[in-house]
Amino acid sequence: MTAHVYGLSASARENTSAAARIAAEVALPNSTEVDSAGRFPAESMAALGAAGLCGLCLPQSVGGKGEGMRAFAGVVEELAAACASTAMVYVMHVSAAQAIATSETLTDRDSILKEIAAGRHLTTLAFSESGSRSQFWAPVSKLEESNGHFVTSASKSWVTAAGHADSYVSTAQKPNAGSPLESTVYLVRSNSPGVAVTSAFNGLGLRGNESAPVSLDKITVSQGDLISAPGDGPRVILQVVLPWFAVGSAAMANGLCRAALQRTTDHLVGTGFTHDGSKLRDLPILRARLAQMSVRTEASRSLLGYTLDHLEQPDESTPLLVLQSRLAALEAAVEVTDLAMKACGGAAFSRHLGIERLFRDARAGWVMAPTVDHLNDFIGKALTGLPLF
Ligand SMILES: Cc1cc2nc3c(=O)[nH]c(=O)nc-3n(C[C@H](O)[C@H](O)[C@H](O)COP(=O)(O)OP(=O)(O)OC[C@H]3O[C@@H](n4cnc5c(N)ncnc54)[C@H](O)[C@@H]3O)c2cc1C
Repeated sequence: MTAHVYGLSASARENTSAAARIAAEVALPNSTEVDSAGRFPAESMAALGAAGLCGLCLPQSVGGKGEGMRAFAGVVEELAAACASTAMVYVMHVSAAQAIATSETLTDRDSILKEIAAGRHLTTLAFSESGSRSQFWAPVSKLEESNGHFVTSASKSWVTAAGHADSYVSTAQKPNAGSPLESTVYLVRSNSPGVAVTSAFNGLGLRGNESAPVSLDKITVSQGDLISAPGDGPRVILQVVLPWFAVGSAAMANGLCRAALQRTTDHLVGTGFTHDGSKLRDLPILRARLAQMSVRTEASRSLLGYTLDHLEQPDESTPLLVLQSRLAALEAAVEVTDLAMKACGGAAFSRHLGIERLFRDARAGWVMAPTVDHLNDFIGKALTGLPLF
C-alpha cells in the first residue's frame, strides 16, 4: 500500500476511508442544494456523528477515537472535496472540541466530551467580534464579576454552525483586563437565556456553513463555564485552537484543490470538438493549466504532511510551519480553482460542473482569520525575530 501524504496510520486510514464514504454517499449528493439554498449540511453532520467521526480526535476514555491531527487532516480533505460547507462546520467543531478537551476549569468537560463523541453535541468557535473584526486575538467584549460568577455581552460577528451548534467556544477580556490580549476562553450553551442568532448567513461561498452573527446579551458565565483561567485565553487560542484550525483549514483547502483537479481532468478527457473529433486535452494550453494545478495541489499537500511530521515532534520551527502550510494551502486553493475556471471555460462558468462552487468556496479561507494578510505578516515577523503581537 502506498504511503498517504499525511502519514496516516492504519486506524487513521480507516477513519479517512469512512469519511470518504460519507463524502461520496451523503455530502456530495447534497452539496449542490446545500450551496444553492444556502442551507446547513444537516445530513452530512448527522452521518459523521453516527460514524463516531465527531469524536475523531477525542480520547477513547470519553468515547472518542483517540486520533490525532493526521487523521483529522485526512478526514477533512475527503469532506472538503465533496462539500466544503460540511468540512468547514467539521473543522470548527473539532477545533472547539480540542479547546474543551484540554480545559482544566470546565466543570462539565467530560460529560460534554462524551456527548460530542456520541455525535449528540456540535460545538464551534465564536471568536470574531464586530469590534475586533479579523483580529480575533483581541476581543472587545469583557467578563464582569457579579456575585461569584461573570456577566458578559458581546456581538459575535461570524459563528459557523450558528443556531445548529449546541455550544459556542467564546472569548472575552478577563475582568479588569489591562489590554484585550488578556482574554479568557469560556463555553456558552447555545440555548442559554440572552443568546440569539441575529441574522442568517448569506455568503459568496461555503454557503451552507451558516456562519451567522450571534449576540450575547448580559449572559451569565459561571466559574465552571471557563475553558481557560481568566487571562489565560491567549495560551488556549494560540497553542490549542490555532494549530488544529490551521491544520484543518489547510486540509480543507487541499480538498478543494483535489476536487478542482479531478473535475478539470474529467472535463478535459471527456469533452471535445465534434467537427474534428479532438478532445479538450489535445489543447496544450489546457494541459499546461492542469499541470500547474497538479503541482500546486501536491506541493500544498506535501507541506501539510511535513508540518504534521513536525507537530508530532515539535521544535522551535513548528509554529512557523503551521502558519506556512496554512498560507500555502489557502493560496493554492484560490489559484488552483482559478486555473480550473480558465481550463474549463464556459462549462465551468455555468454551474453544472460544480467548479464555480469550488472557486467561490476557496475564497473563504483567504479572509478567515488568521487571514492570508495576517499569515504573511506573522511569518515575516517570525523570520525576522519580531514578536507576533
Ligand atoms: C465562511 C466564514 C466562516 C467563518 N467562521 C467563523 C467562526 O466560526 N468563528 C469565528 O470566530 N470567526 C469566523 N469567521 C470570521 C473570520 O475569521 C474573520 O474574522 C472575518 O472574515 C473578518 O472579516 P472582516 O471583514 O471583519 O475583516 P477585517 O478585519 O475588516 O479585515 C479586512 C482586511 O484587512 C486585513 N487585515 C486586518 N488586520 C490586519 C493586520 N493586522 N495585518 C494585515 N492585514 C490585516 C484582512 O486580511 C482583510 O483582508 C468566518 C469567516 C468566514 C468568511
